[in-house]
Amino acid sequence: MSKFSKLLLTLVLVGTFNGENSYAKTPAKQLFGTKALPAAMEPKVHGFYSKGCVAGAVALPLDGPNWQTMRLSRNRRWGHPTLIKIIEDLSYKAKKDGWNGVLVGDISQPRGGPMLTGHRSHQLGLDSDLWLMPMPNKRMTYKEREETSAISVLKKNSFYVDDSRWTRAHTMLLYHAANFKEVERILVHPAVKKKLCDTVSGDRKWLNKVRPYWGHHYHFHLRIGCPPGSTGCRSQKSTGSGTGCDDSLDWWFNVGLKPPKDPAPPAKKRRELVLSDLPQACAAILKAPDSDVVRATHKVRETAFVAPKINLPKVSAASVLNSKPIEASSAATLSDVRIPIPTPRPKP
Ligand SMILES: [Zn+2]
Repeated sequence: MSKFSKLLLTLVLVGTFNGENSYAKTPAKQLFGTKALPAAMEPKVHGFYSKGCVAGAVALPLDGPNWQTMRLSRNRRWGHPTLIKIIEDLSYKAKKDGWNGVLVGDISQPRGGPMLTGHRSHQLGLDSDLWLMPMPNKRMTYKEREETSAISVLKKNSFYVDDSRWTRAHTMLLYHAANFKEVERILVHPAVKKKLCDTVSGDRKWLNKVRPYWGHHYHFHLRIGCPPGSTGCRSQKSTGSGTGCDDSLDWWFNVGLKPPKDPAPPAKKRRELVLSDLPQACAAILKAPDSDVVRATHKVRETAFVAPKINLPKVSAASVLNSKPIEASSAATLSDVRIPIPTPRPKP
């Protein structure tokens, strides 16, 4: 081997090593966060809600008869086909009970995985955020879907639901959501849980799935269980039985939502997830060829429905990073404050 080719070989080897090395060190959110389309594979979920990915995800169409999707720049309309179908079905059930259509926030990225902004969960295509604000009586433009803010259901600076805003249709939306057998958890602000505990009569079994958690007064979070056939999916602990309208709810008002007595120590910075933190299957899912966008988009059941024409921009990290939060203002209300709790806090 000539001196020159030896040098060339060394350069190539070093280059390859560095390339793979930097790929391995790249935060997984950058790898997953810039994928425009799902992996052309059978729908399958791997890992846990906060550490995993999804193959063969499908998109919820931008519009359906009873829904509109929001914050389109984030490209998070993707989920396991079972979840996408549930969102469609829920939009019909809620409409019948007076909810003027569902505004759909983040579901998952096309291949799931960690995200560039927000959420620790939503990585499997089994979680979705649905606004606690009904659809307006018109189809929104792309810009309106980027900029419209959700309205909190809480009374300003309080831990209670604003009764001038809360309607029976809100309750029925959550009732129908909880009654899908695949749905395992619905996360809401403790004030919303309290409102349901105080007002729901008759069948109260469904309240078991409605779990109090910080935030979640602009939207609620709907989570389904591991789909059959996804053997690599790790289930969350069962919610057991009981309505949860008990001491565990009081804890939120007595401890969980209260400002801490002592100033909280600075939060430790979490290490960014890299590809090797996720199940092995996620590496193959990242590398798999793209699905065809038309085939990977859920077909709305009402074939006569004509959706407005919306042109989507190219998927980019910058547009995700610049997208506006759904909350009306950046000024945190009392209840937005995430408080490090000294006592064991309940799992969502
Ligand atoms: Zn969520």
